[in-house]
Amino acid sequence: MTTALITHADCLRHETPEGHPEQVARLEHILHALEPLDLKRVSAPMVAEDDILRIHPVDHLRALRSAHPSEGYVQIDGDTFMSPGTLDAAFRAAGAAVRAVDMVLGGEVQNAFAAIRPPGHHAETETAMGFCFFGNAALAAKHALEHHGLNRVAVVDFDVHHGNGSQDLLWDEPRALFVTSQQMPLWPGSGRVDEDGVHGQILNMPLPPESGGAEMRAAYTGQAFPRIRAFKPELIIISAGFDAHRDDPLASLNWSTEDFAWLTAELCALAEELCQGRIVSTLEGGYDLNALAQATRGHVEELIKAAT
Ligand SMILES: [Zn+2]
Repeated sequence: MTTALITHADCLRHETPEGHPEQVARLEHILHALEPLDLKRVSAPMVAEDDILRIHPVDHLRALRSAHPSEGYVQIDGDTFMSPGTLDAAFRAAGAAVRAVDMVLGGEVQNAFAAIRPPGHHAETETAMGFCFFGNAALAAKHALEHHGLNRVAVVDFDVHHGNGSQDLLWDEPRALFVTSQQMPLWPGSGRVDEDGVHGQILNMPLPPESGGAEMRAAYTGQAFPRIRAFKPELIIISAGFDAHRDDPLASLNWSTEDFAWLTAELCALAEELCQGRIVSTLEGGYDLNALAQATRGHVEELIKAAT
């Protein structure tokens, strides 16, 4: 079995103003770092509108379409911009997440990494925010549940920022366990332990500023892994943000490239134990270009190891 790398050149057409951390160069650095790896390379389709409408109301789609610029930039909130290529990129990003689910559940590949932008985990039901337009990971989870008929999916989010959007979109979904670690305090401010979902199916693990790999490993080993094991997911979806890296300019956790590889290997082992190794990983944040590229490469290398 192999690991799929799903991406599309349209994801490089979502442009942001000079100096914006969520920049085209992020994905360029990642794709360059992944070039030597043995991966099944797949072109991301545009997402089907039905997949978007499973998690976002049609008004959200309409609002984005009407805001979409034909030139220059449109500012959606304090740090979220649209350029003429944004909607195509967002449709490819969501489409990559869905295609990853189809390939893994269809047995075409063991696991898959969607190298995409814009990211997704801050997009709430009706609100684009925090560089995000559609909830890629939540959309993939709903696709697995509704289209493929799975009964239980786990979504694990290790981006340094709280996945407020995924939490909002999965808040009342008993078939999805949402496990998320984040620096606290930090933007967007949510992610307290007592935010646990309608069915108690959300696990928030706030981590203090300046904490590092030891605190992360303790939280995942002590809390996350037992919860995932007890939930018995049929698929694990990862919101893979690499901005908890010690070199990242937007946050102050001190994870190393090895910490991301350790966490990935542990999640692969859990998937092997619980769900025939089925993992779909989608890119979220990570803003130091070199740290992002190296940590992503380490993450994908662990996926490849688990697939062979
Ligand atoms: Zn982030």
